[in-house]
Amino acid sequence: MAIQSIRLFGDPVLRTAAAPVVDFDKELRKLVKDLTDTMMDAPGAGLAAPQIGVGLRVFTYYVDDRLGHLVNPDLDLSADLDEDGEEGCLSFPGLSYPTPRAVRAVAKGFDMHGEPVTLEGTDLMARCFQHETDHLDGILFIDRMDPKQRKLAMKAIREAEWSGLSAPVIKMSPHATGGRAL
Ligand SMILES: [Zn+2]
Repeated sequence: MAIQSIRLFGDPVLRTAAAPVVDFDKELRKLVKDLTDTMMDAPGAGLAAPQIGVGLRVFTYYVDDRLGHLVNPDLDLSADLDEDGEEGCLSFPGLSYPTPRAVRAVAKGFDMHGEPVTLEGTDLMARCFQHETDHLDGILFIDRMDPKQRKLAMKAIREAEWSGLSAPVIKMSPHATGGRAL
């Protein structure tokens, strides 16, 4: 097992665009293993390399019993949106908010051996692909919320135990990820 610590909101690495993978080498395979182990341990439905402090375009996912990874992802999104599906993030422990996302996504990229991969997802899987690819661009789910939700989220972040300020009791609401964050 190679479980890494997960970077929390406020860490600059989460706001830094990640670089494309060029070398499909042993280091990349170790990164995919670290991401997978860390995601499963959390547990989470997805994890992007910047969340463990690595600035490369790689993420892992575990949704509806589909476990995998994608390198250098490129997304094609449906026009129809799920406006109010709940979403969480391992870099914002305990918080989840309605976050608009495309209902369907086709994700093209590569596996860790450099073979081309095309993944299709709807609902939670599509949400995961969008959330993780955003991480690779330094974009966080709070950026995708409508202004009212973002205001609520920022207040909860300021008050969260992990932000280093006073700690309220955070209620987890049942949501689409089954309690797993991304
Ligand atoms: Zn996240």
